[in-house]
Amino acid sequence: MNKLKANYHTHTTFCDGSDTAEAVVQEALRRGFTHLGFSGHMDPGVSMDYDAYAQEICRLQAAYRDQIDILRGAELDNVYDPSCVAGAEVRGSAGAVPSTLRINSVLPDAPGASVAGEVFGVPGARSGDDFAAPGAEYTIGSTHFVPVPGSSVWPAPAAFGTHREGSENWDLIGVDGDISLLHDQCRQYYGGDFYALSADYYRFEAMVAARLHPTLIGHFDLITRFNDLSRADGGHFLDETSERYLLPARRAMEALVPYGLPFEINCGAVNRGRKKELYPRPELLRHLHALGGEILISADAHQKELLDGGFEEAMELARWAGFTHTNLLVREPGADDASRPAKNTQADGGGTLYWRTTALNEETEG
Ligand SMILES: [Zn+2]
Ligand SMILES: [Zn+2]
Repeated sequence: MNKLKANYHTHTTFCDGSDTAEAVVQEALRRGFTHLGFSGHMDPGVSMDYDAYAQEICRLQAAYRDQIDILRGAELDNVYDPSCVAGAEVRGSAGAVPSTLRINSVLPDAPGASVAGEVFGVPGARSGDDFAAPGAEYTIGSTHFVPVPGSSVWPAPAAFGTHREGSENWDLIGVDGDISLLHDQCRQYYGGDFYALSADYYRFEAMVAARLHPTLIGHFDLITRFNDLSRADGGHFLDETSERYLLPARRAMEALVPYGLPFEINCGAVNRGRKKELYPRPELLRHLHALGGEILISADAHQKELLDGGFEEAMELARWAGFTHTNLLVREPGADDASRPAKNTQADGGGTLYWRTTALNEETEG
C-alpha cells in the first residue's frame, strides 16, 4: 500500500487537466490523502484564468477543510512574470480590502540567505460581491521553453519574467509541446545540434530559482520529454547517459541546489506512458543527493486516477539514489521533527508553509 498520501503537482480543467478541481479533491479523499496541492499552469503554452482558478480553490479549501488540507499553488513557467500569481487587484471599491499582496519574489531565497519571517498576503478578502483572488501559497518553477539564441528573454532581469497570459511566444522553443516543431526549431537555431539546444535548456533552467523564486523545482530534465520516441517518430535525439548531455545538466543542478529548494521527482511522463525514466533521470538524481539536495515526489497529475501514480517507483528510485526521506508541504511545523520553513511560500492567514520530512522506508504500512 502506498504510504505517501500527498501530491502537490496537480492539474485540472482550469488548464490542461481532465477533471474538475472538486472531482480531484473527491478522488484524493477516496485515496486517503492528507494533503492536496493544486498547481495550475501559468505557461505560454497553456493559458489559465488565474483569478477564477484561485477563487475555486479557495472555495474547496473551505468546503473540505475538515477532511483534507488543500494548498493553492501554481506551476509557473520560467519565462513568466511571477507577479501573475500574486493575486488580483481588488475590483470594486466600497469596503474592499486593498490588496497588499506582494509577489513571492520579495522573499530572499538566494544562496546563503535565511528564510524571512516576513511574508505578505491578504487571504481571500471578501467584501460584498467583490473578491480579491489571493495569491498562490506556493509555486512550482518549471522550464517548458528555451528562449531562442539572442532572445531578449535571456538577459531579462531575474524575478521579473517577460511573459504573461497572452504574450507572444515567437522567441521560445517549446520542449514538451510539438515534436516536429522542436526539430524544426533545433535545425533553425542550432543547426540540428540537440546537445547545443539541451545545453541552452540547462543554462535557462539554472536561472529558474532567481527568475521565479519558486517553492520547488519542477521536472528538472523535461528537455528529454520526447527522447524515448522511436527515431522515426523524432525521438532518440540525445544520449541521456553521455557526458555531453549530462555535464550541462549537472552544472544547472549545482547552480540551483544552493537555493535550498526541493527538486521534484516527477512521475508525470512515466504515468502517461511517455517515458521510461522519471524526472530527474537516475544519474542526475544521484548527483542531486551527492550535492545535498532535497526532494519531493510529484505525480504531475492531469487525470485524477493518476494522483499517486508512480509513487512507489519514485520512492524506490529515491532510495537507490541515496535519499532516506522525502518532503511534504504542510501548514504547521511538527512538534518533534525537523520541519523547516518552506521558502517562497505565503500561507493563507500569514506566515510560511513548512517542509516536513517523511522517511522512505522499505516497509510499507497498511
Ligand atoms: Zn510542467
Ligand atoms: Zn505540470
